[in-house]
Amino acid sequence: MLRIPLKSGKWFFAITFSAAGTVIMEYCAPVTLAEVCAALGAASGTVKVFAGGTDLLPRFVAGVNPPALLIDIKHVPETREIRRLAEGGFVIGSACSGGQISAHTELVRSWPGLTEAMDLIGSVQIQSRATLGGNLCNASPAADSVPALIASRARCRIAGSDGERELPVEDIIVSPGRTCLRQDEFIVSFFLPARNPRSADAYLRMTPRTEMDIAIASAAVNLTVDEQGVVNECHVVLGAVGPVPVYALPAARILLGSRLDEEVRQRFRRQISALCRPISDKRGSAEYRTDVTAVLADRAAMTAYNRALL
Ligand SMILES: Cc1cc2nc3c(=O)[nH]c(=O)nc-3n(C[C@H](O)[C@H](O)[C@H](O)COP(=O)(O)OP(=O)(O)OC[C@H]3O[C@@H](n4cnc5c(N)ncnc54)[C@H](O)[C@@H]3O)c2cc1C
Repeated sequence: MLRIPLKSGKWFFAITFSAAGTVIMEYCAPVTLAEVCAALGAASGTVKVFAGGTDLLPRFVAGVNPPALLIDIKHVPETREIRRLAEGGFVIGSACSGGQISAHTELVRSWPGLTEAMDLIGSVQIQSRATLGGNLCNASPAADSVPALIASRARCRIAGSDGERELPVEDIIVSPGRTCLRQDEFIVSFFLPARNPRSADAYLRMTPRTEMDIAIASAAVNLTVDEQGVVNECHVVLGAVGPVPVYALPAARILLGSRLDEEVRQRFRRQISALCRPISDKRGSAEYRTDVTAVLADRAAMTAYNRALL
């Protein structure tokens, strides 16, 4: 069994699932960043970072590729904090749960779209476990927080056995289920930039069922308006209509310099549809997803705009 000396002392134990009592997985719970990095760097077999476990555990129960080692990052303080920075902006630990995020009044006031995206995940029970970092690193095209995180221009603090680096959120997912992180790396936290006055975001999704379902289309909009109510900064991101979230730059450009009048919104909806590359499956045809995405993006833009004017 893998052993690494850690100051905390409280960490390894084995998980046995097989009837024969064979150890198929080990679990550790380091309490510092350095300990997580040491464990990631020393692991010889497959290793998985473990946060809320809401994506991982159903897979293990179904017998899908259990790793040799699980490294639980929730005991590391930097992964659990939500902190407002003196110069504006927020740091959100990657292992903050949806429940923790949507209960943070200041964060909800500054980033209503991102926090409403986390608030849509699963149920109250799931939200008490599901984390922001897990939602991103699971790399599902339908993940709710990811379009809102990208639209917010959030950046990731990444730690690994070789040191630290920083990347924008949109660089993390490379294809469905895959991230650009090396096996010895994990996301410590997210940095959300300071808000200009008259800025707001919004997130909307469409699910075939009203509860406990994942998006077949989603849209996040983050914008800023000037004193005359004219949009002077805008970011639009679409979810579930491509293998990775779509950063809809040509659509955002249409809103710039406008007050979102009807003619602009028509062009915006057409451009959104042109950017969608969804699949067809039993949950929705490609045509339906494309039409719905244009409606969602338009409504999210109006919601963000009206919030920014308040
Ligand atoms: C009943 C149910 C309903 C759900 N509904 C929704 C929904 O409506 N919308 C939605 O988007 N999702 C939904 N999900 C999926 C899931 O809850 C989310 O994706 C959740 O945010 C995952 O977070 P977690 O902490 O549980 O991740 P985990 O299961 O712990 O990890 C997920 C993946 O991310 C990796 N990982 C986790 N944290 C890090 C990190 N900091 N650095 C590097 N890698 C990391 C893990 O190794 C693993 O590969 C649902 C799941 C269930 C079971």
